[in-house]
Amino acid sequence: MKLSDFVGNENIKEQVAAIIDKNRFPHAILLQGEEGIGKRTIAFMIAKAAVCSSLGKKPCNSCIDCLKADAKTHPDIAYPKATGGTKSFRVDAIREIRENAYILPNEAKFKIYIFESVDKMTEQAQNAFLKLLEEPPKHVIFILTCNSFDSLLFTVRSRCQIFSIKPVSDIKAIAFLSLYYPEFSEEEIEKTVKLSHGNIGRAITILKNSLDNKTYAVARDIGTALLDDTEWELLAAIGKASKDRNLFILSLDYLELIFRDACILCYSKNKYFPEGDAAKNLSRRFGSNALVKFIRILQKTKKYLDRNVGINFLAMYLCANLRKIAFKEN
Ligand SMILES: [Zn+2]
Repeated sequence: MKLSDFVGNENIKEQVAAIIDKNRFPHAILLQGEEGIGKRTIAFMIAKAAVCSSLGKKPCNSCIDCLKADAKTHPDIAYPKATGGTKSFRVDAIREIRENAYILPNEAKFKIYIFESVDKMTEQAQNAFLKLLEEPPKHVIFILTCNSFDSLLFTVRSRCQIFSIKPVSDIKAIAFLSLYYPEFSEEEIEKTVKLSHGNIGRAITILKNSLDNKTYAVARDIGTALLDDTEWELLAAIGKASKDRNLFILSLDYLELIFRDACILCYSKNKYFPEGDAAKNLSRRFGSNALVKFIRILQKTKKYLDRNVGINFLAMYLCANLRKIAFKEN
């Protein structure tokens, strides 16, 4: 992702781009905004640009430093973790960072520390951190993120360049989500944007969860259709799944889980499976032999998917083979 791809917040993007282009990174940057708003994304882009070794536009996303940053293995980008009670940053952790910060970077020109959720930094830790901010080593950039800087000491805040990231307009959110999540309909995306109030991160979480529910429902329908005496239910369920390649692939994974659960239930009575559960019903109708065969068919289908065999052909293959096993059993 490029900085220009970040949705909305034009003035922040301009300021961040200027910092990167002029190679004039402040010693401390504070990114403020609600959960899911994109603080982590911006923090990471700044860090990556600071270590990028390209002579052109930074981050270039292709030099060895950018690649290491993407893989989270760059030795000069640190993500200190809050390990105190209620996940707070404690004073001893800050002292340790203070010692480490004065050591020169390993490979890049800068050494970057990304602290997430600094609203959870204890006051004692903030005071220790303040000492570091008062005399920061030249090569160090601290990037802090928080939902609200109200819980930070004024003395800490005043030493940071602050960016407040804001929700974006519905039109911008819809355009972004339609581009990156084409598997969802216009109505689904519009509904999600309304629910997330211009918070892209929240919208993505809602879409992913609904994809999860949708996929599970598709897998459950295929599994349940095997209990039917005719093949029409199965044809209909697989046909529905095969309309969308992504949905088809994901539903096969869920279906395999359902078959595996059913297999386990053939040998044990698990009270955690409610009555009416697809796995429970399948375990009552089919023995473990048939269920294992179902799983093998799924695995074969997935192998063909990897070889880019057409979805319609695979849907037919899956339907015919599952039906053959189910028919033999009955
Ligand atoms: Zn680069």
